[in-house]
Amino acid sequence: MLRGKTAIVTGSTSGIGLGIAQALAQQGANVLLNGLGERRQVDALVAQLSADYGVKVAYSPADMSVAAEVSTLVAQCAHQWGSVDILVNNAGIQHTAPLEEFPDEKWEQILAINLSAAFYGTKAALPHMRHRGWGRIVNIASAHGLVASPTKAAYVAAKHGLVGLTKVVALETARSPITCNAICPGWVLTPLVQKQIDDAATRDGISDDDAKTKLLAEKQPSIEFATPEQIGTAVAFLCSPAADQIRGAAISIDGGWTAQ
Ligand code: NAD
Repeated sequence: MLRGKTAIVTGSTSGIGLGIAQALAQQGANVLLNGLGERRQVDALVAQLSADYGVKVAYSPADMSVAAEVSTLVAQCAHQWGSVDILVNNAGIQHTAPLEEFPDEKWEQILAINLSAAFYGTKAALPHMRHRGWGRIVNIASAHGLVASPTKAAYVAAKHGLVGLTKVVALETARSPITCNAICPGWVLTPLVQKQIDDAATRDGISDDDAKTKLLAEKQPSIEFATPEQIGTAVAFLCSPAADQIRGAAISIDGGWTAQ
């Protein structure tokens, strides 16, 4: 379905981003991976993806907290493969603390990576998409793009901002074959969430399993994690012709979290 298309997935060296990269590669897209990680492991990931799906796979260590590096990432894709057809703004970090204790530098970093990077990436990618007359932008927001929780001021602000940015881009591209949508996952068991589980287990003196159940029970009525594969499949669907008229949507994959 996506053979010959090129996709950038930011933050795709682990977790949800990796699930998305795999789903797009499975559909035949060439994928530019990005994210932090040990070079040897990343090289193995590049080789594995390429071998598994018979597509071109490359990697950029661009730091999504730095505007110029986001633009460079997009330029690399255009230079290397001649187009930027799909941009998935997925890189994200978390930090939890009550607002009065929230470190300023964490606020700045979360806003930069979880929100501003999507602005800079979209700004750089749109001209390439318009030139080729097709494009898909998918922003990985969160249930926290739609509702809030305490201790997550920066994350909730950034993710609500990302849902807003998604709508603006969708409107500005509405008369073209370029679409922009957001996916709002609930809990997905990735390193980002495992850290919150570890913190809760230590804080409450409970086991890893009990901390997982408690985390899910608080928010996610299904009491099951969503998976990176499910998020990846949803992104691939948004890149399909069936999704041509899905524009500016915030699609929840959250086990019922935001239905409450
Ligand atoms: P993760 O920690 O497994 O992956 C995050 C990715 O972002 C990694 O590849 C990491 O290297 C990369 N990254 C971090 N800082 C970066 C930087 N400065 N520059 C480039 N890359 C950077 O986390 P995840 O859970 O897979 O999160 C992926 C996205 O999904 C995030 O935007 C997150 O907010 C969102 N999300 C996650 C959940 C969840 O439950 N896991 C729920 C809702 C939304």
